[in-house]
Amino acid sequence: MSDSKVTNELKNIIPDTKYYLTNDEVNTLTTKYGISTEQLIIELIDVVKVRAKCVTSKCYVGAIGVGRQTKNFYFGVNLEFSGQTLAQSVHAEQFLIALAHCKGEEGIELISVSHFPCGHCRQFLNELYQSDKIKILLPNEQLQYSLSDLLPYAFNLGTGYLLSFSSVNKLKLKIESTEDPLVHCAFKFALNSYAPYSNSPSSVGIQLDTGEMFAGAYLESVAYNPSLPPLQVALVHLIANGKEYEQIKRVILLELESSYGCPSQFYSTFALLRSIAPNVTLETYELSVLNN
Ligand SMILES: [Zn+2]
Repeated sequence: MSDSKVTNELKNIIPDTKYYLTNDEVNTLTTKYGISTEQLIIELIDVVKVRAKCVTSKCYVGAIGVGRQTKNFYFGVNLEFSGQTLAQSVHAEQFLIALAHCKGEEGIELISVSHFPCGHCRQFLNELYQSDKIKILLPNEQLQYSLSDLLPYAFNLGTGYLLSFSSVNKLKLKIESTEDPLVHCAFKFALNSYAPYSNSPSSVGIQLDTGEMFAGAYLESVAYNPSLPPLQVALVHLIANGKEYEQIKRVILLELESSYGCPSQFYSTFALLRSIAPNVTLETYELSVLNN
């Protein structure tokens, strides 16, 4: 079977709303087509990249990442938002890393992208656990690189890792007692937020008209701009579950009390929410820090 036939079959087999494959599903597909894991990844890139929401650039980017512990595949596409600056965008590599974070993955061992990763994403990858062992597979060239091939003399302050739950968020957080299940859902993500510079962990919780809830944690880069805000991470989780922005009914932001003097996610979250769900009010809940 030719490569293109495999890609076309995969387009029919894998629903547009599916953004990850378990290791068992991967093994079923490699056995079915008699191909290696790396060949399957290359076939999947074209399946995934057409899902990009690139309303401004019209540049479709797809990415596949393999979880270090689970060997699950995580899919990523670029997200741009109508009426918003490109600074609010999510790169395809960030999408799959945010999804892996939501799924509890602690590292990525291989990533393939439809284009060479941009400098911004090379930095983001550099902040993952064991980033020196990440392999980068370029489908058009069928070549593998290490991250250090693409990012020599990397900027790294040794502050921890974006996806390493054991190293995140040294602060012990608490929130006022509440029965609100969306607050509880978002609070779990705030505990896994990574904010090495600002010490301002935060998270966003989203509830849909169906009652389903999704959340995302702030993932801060030591190179500032690649940082991924909590609403974007929550939206990745929402999209990866086949949901639409139009279904959003309620959004909450959890961040530290203003008395801590930390940078706030409120205004950027508010601005993006106006674009994707203009009738939804942004609710805020304050986190505080336990002394010990
Ligand atoms: Zn990028």
